[in-house]
Amino acid sequence: MKRIVLVPGHSSFDPGAINKNLNLKEYDCVLEMALKLFKSDDLGNVDMILKRRNSYQTLAEEINSLNPDYIFELHLNAANGKAQGTEVLYCSSSKKGKNIAEILQNNLVKALSYPDRGIKSIKIGDRGSNILWKTKAPCVIVESCFIDSLKFREDLKMKETISALKEGIREIIDRQV
Ligand SMILES: [Zn+2]
Repeated sequence: MKRIVLVPGHSSFDPGAINKNLNLKEYDCVLEMALKLFKSDDLGNVDMILKRRNSYQTLAEEINSLNPDYIFELHLNAANGKAQGTEVLYCSSSKKGKNIAEILQNNLVKALSYPDRGIKSIKIGDRGSNILWKTKAPCVIVESCFIDSLKFREDLKMKETISALKEGIREIIDRQV
């Protein structure tokens, strides 16, 4: 059985990016996403652990102590209020991380139809490098869309995102990445 650690990015005291027009906070959205994924009973033989971010400093260590096979951190992107698209970030030294990022990116782009911004190789010191570099298991950061440029809440495409992530996870496990 594969163990997946699922981390909603940010926390209630550091909610991440915000869409003022829709009164949406990144943390609330990715937590909802993580909970929906966590509740899925059609992922097969998977031991999923929902991990709260207590402190950014100790997060990687806390995750390592759970001995996962894969780690997924969920985020939403933000820029200038206009950009839109999907990207998945991976550790530049991890071949498995890259393969996982590719699989998730393909599934998300197909399901969401937002611009394909591609997978992003993250070096030490780049955004997200803390979790990507300090965790032992292959780890990716999913940025399904840009929260700040959404016109309607439905544009989060929550349902499509969950099913794309599930498809991706099944594929990762089937292909024994
Ligand atoms: Zn974020």
